[in-house]
Amino acid sequence: MTVTVTIAEAVDEAPLPFPSSPDAHLTDPLTRATLRVQSRMLAATRAFLTARGFQELLPPIIGPVTDPGIRGSKQVDVDFYGHTYKMMTSAILYKQASLLAFDKIFYIAPNVRLEPLETAVTHRHLAEFHQIDVEIRDARREDAMDLAEQLVTHVVADAVAGLPDDLALLGRDTDTLHKAVAASFGRVAHRQATTELTGLGHPQDPAAEIDWQGEEIVSARAGRPFFITDYPKGSRGFYDKEDAQHPGVLRNFDLIAPEGYGELASGSEREHDYASLVTRMRETGENPAKYGWYLDLARRGIPASSGFGIGLERFTRYVTGRQAAWQASAYPKLPGVVSA
Ligand code: AMP
Ligand code: MG
Repeated sequence: MTVTVTIAEAVDEAPLPFPSSPDAHLTDPLTRATLRVQSRMLAATRAFLTARGFQELLPPIIGPVTDPGIRGSKQVDVDFYGHTYKMMTSAILYKQASLLAFDKIFYIAPNVRLEPLETAVTHRHLAEFHQIDVEIRDARREDAMDLAEQLVTHVVADAVAGLPDDLALLGRDTDTLHKAVAASFGRVAHRQATTELTGLGHPQDPAAEIDWQGEEIVSARAGRPFFITDYPKGSRGFYDKEDAQHPGVLRNFDLIAPEGYGELASGSEREHDYASLVTRMRETGENPAKYGWYLDLARRGIPASSGFGIGLERFTRYVTGRQAAWQASAYPKLPGVVSA
C-alpha cells in the first residue's frame, strides 16, 4: 500500500502540550495504556530473543568513552574519581566486547543524549530513551536485518493479539498494524531514497544523512516498515563497516516505520579490525587515544558481528499510535524542557 502525502502534511511540527506535572502524565489513562503496551512489548522481545539463544546482559550506564554520536547531540560527563566518564549515548562498543563471552546478546539499554533544542518538536527525540540492543557474532548485515524484521513482526503481532482493549482505548487502528507486518518489509538503498525524495521536491544530498523532514516524508508514504541500506561514509559512526566492494558506502541500515512515524532502528555489520578502526576514527574526527580499553581489545581481537538498536519509545509510539515518543515514557525528558 502506498499513501501519497504532501510535504506539508508529512511534517507536522505543531507543538504538543507537555504535561504540567508528573502526576498529570502518569495518571492519564492514555499514558497507562501506552505503558501497558510497552511492558508487553518488552516481554515479547525477551521471549523472542531468548528462545533464539540470545543472552540478555545488563548494559553499562557510564564508561570512559561512549558512542561518539552524530547529528549534533551532546554527551553528558560524569566525574569518576577525577576521571571524566560519559553517560552511555549507546552501548555499541560494549555490545561488540560482549561477544567475547556469548555469541548472541541483547540489552534493554538506557541512553542519554542532549539532543539539539530544535529536535524537541520532531515528536521523535528524547534526551533519555532506551534501546533494544542486539548483537550477533559472525553475522552479516542481512542476518541482522532479517532478525530485526522478525522481531518487530513478532512484537507488533503479539501486542495486537494480546492488548486489543488498550489499543482500542488509544484509538490505534489494529487492522493497519496487522497489515503492516503481514508481508516482508521493503528494502531500498540510501541513494535511491534520496533520488525519490529529490523527485518529491525535498532535495536530499546522496552523500549525506537523510534529514528529519525527509525521513518523515519517506515514512509517511509507506504502508509497512522498510529498510534503507547503504548509507554514505561520513553519515555514521566509525564502527559501521565500509563495503569492500563499494568504497564510501557502509554495510548498514535503518528500519523505518510507516505512517510517518520515522526511524525505528539503526544497525550494521561492524568494523572490528584494529587498523581499520583507527583509520575510521581519524576519518570521523575521533581521537583514537580516547578509546583505550576498546582499541586494546580490538588489537587482541574483537569478533566480527552485526547488530542493531531499536528505539523502545519510538517503537512503542508506532504500536500505540501516539503523537510523540515522549508519550511512551513514564518520566519523559524532552530536549531543553525541565521536568521530573
Ligand atoms: P542511533 O544509533 O542513533 O540510530 O539510535 C538507535 C535508535 O534509537 C534509533 O533508531 C531510534 O529509534 C532511537 N533513538 C535515537 N535517538 C533517539 C532520541 N533522541 N530519542 C528517542 N529515540 C532515539
Ligand atoms: Mg539511527
